[in-house]
Amino acid sequence: KDQNLGPAAAVHYWARTTRDATAIVYEGARISYGTLSARVRSLAVALSDGGVRPGDRIAFLGRNGPVLLEAALAAAHLGAVFVPLNIRLAGAEVAYLLGDCRPHTLIAEDPALIDGIADTVPVQRFLLADSGPAASGVHPRWETLATGETGETAAETAGTPETADAAPPVAVRPTDPAVIMYTSGTTGRPKGAVLTHGNLWWNHINTAAVIRTRLGDTTLVLAPMFHIAGLSGFTLGSLCYGGTLVIRRTFSPEQCLADLVEHRVANLIAVPTMFAAIAATPGFPHADLSALRAAIVGGAPVPPALVRDYLAHGITLHQAWGMTETAPLASHLPTELVAAHPDAAGFPLPHTEIRLVDPATGGVVTEPEVAAEICVRGPNVFAGYWNNPEATGRVLDDAGWFRSGDIGRVDKNGLLFIVDRLKDVIISGGENIYPAELERQLAEYPGVREAAVVGVEHPRWGESPVAVLCQDGDARATLEEIRAFTGQRLARYKLPTAVHHVDALPRNGSGKVDKAALRTQVLGGRRP
Ligand code: ATP
Repeated sequence: KDQNLGPAAAVHYWARTTRDATAIVYEGARISYGTLSARVRSLAVALSDGGVRPGDRIAFLGRNGPVLLEAALAAAHLGAVFVPLNIRLAGAEVAYLLGDCRPHTLIAEDPALIDGIADTVPVQRFLLADSGPAASGVHPRWETLATGETGETAAETAGTPETADAAPPVAVRPTDPAVIMYTSGTTGRPKGAVLTHGNLWWNHINTAAVIRTRLGDTTLVLAPMFHIAGLSGFTLGSLCYGGTLVIRRTFSPEQCLADLVEHRVANLIAVPTMFAAIAATPGFPHADLSALRAAIVGGAPVPPALVRDYLAHGITLHQAWGMTETAPLASHLPTELVAAHPDAAGFPLPHTEIRLVDPATGGVVTEPEVAAEICVRGPNVFAGYWNNPEATGRVLDDAGWFRSGDIGRVDKNGLLFIVDRLKDVIISGGENIYPAELERQLAEYPGVREAAVVGVEHPRWGESPVAVLCQDGDARATLEEIRAFTGQRLARYKLPTAVHHVDALPRNGSGKVDKAALRTQVLGGRRP
């Protein structure tokens, strides 16, 4: 009852047992478990001296780096709730989120990120992390937070032996909220998914099992930590298991390849576009990636060609499926099946159940190969949306089943395939068209770099699919060419009724195609 079951307790444990082991490599500097633990304690003291109490929210606005993790761990140390915010959001959007979660303290790396809204948001204390750009003309309400050097220097002096611990971690239970993670809100206002300490631990346990984590593994963090794949994917789990995290402030494919080789990285989780960018770097074909055991790809539809490309270089990309609300992983494709099923999202994780439900009737689908909504149940499924019982009630039922909003099918061996998002499904003349299926075909058209499909109003069929293509050079495929090509594999009603050409597809902060923005960009925003 009086124990702290959060990730900070695990970091303090490693600080006692393997004090000098490297917890974080950040921009080339090493931070030991001893240093990390000491910094977490001193930040926890600073936060609690400022009035943070268990259950209070601590919001963070900044990029990937040790400071973000220290804030997350200090929050866990205090039983407070960590709320990482997307730095790409506009001021008004940040103001909305701060108004929704009402944090006691906001830590930011750059006051400019909330320029103009500091006076309007319900935040009691503003802390400026000294890791950010030099602050000029700082608002008087900002206090500077000394977070220490990124190297070993401040470390050893600050370490507090357990026996003299003036600020022990407060008790947190598995059901206590650990993190509020806002979903990107492509379907209306952003919603804060409340993830408990239990949710995060079960994600670590599930994930460690399927990737066969070894003690002290090195993990490269590529996804932004204000998204769940960056924070909980492998990141907090790595610290809980005493592993080493390699972190860069921003993503560069060349740097990433160099890090994979130099640090003999074992684990990596990223979206397909990042893996594609890494494979496109000149050094990739000759790079020694023999240490890489768990390269996990997901978060967006995974092109089978990408998986085959990596296989040709002796690297197994494991598709996984999941989302913020499932903390995040729910399914994973084991090594043995990747070559035979490069398009599969795998099996449910050991402690997670998956079933398919017909979204129209609510009936459970048991026959193989029938596309229906994927539902998830398990200890990794979130506690609900912050302050939003209506939205929670729409997706979580009394038996603990969570409606994912994704469509999938399961083959006769129980292997899950992701078909599309329910909200992107195009209904044309009463038939369902899954844009992702058409996108896969379009991606095979010679010279097409990327392709997306969105639905538009159609006078006869209700809706019809429109293809948006990015092609190499000056090539511009015509509608007739595209219909002839996709028609070799797909039914006529699924073929695009118009083709648009763009230089690049709009993507959101996590690298996913932003279909709402795409609609606005090429079609003037219409969505039936
Ligand atoms: P929002 O719900 O606010 O629009 P989001 O759906 O991008 O944001 P996340 O939780 O970041 O929220 O992403 C989860 C989604 O990513 C899943 O619902 C699914 O649509 C997609 N996804 C995840 N893994 C895969 C995969 N292996 N294949 C296809 N799509 C995937």
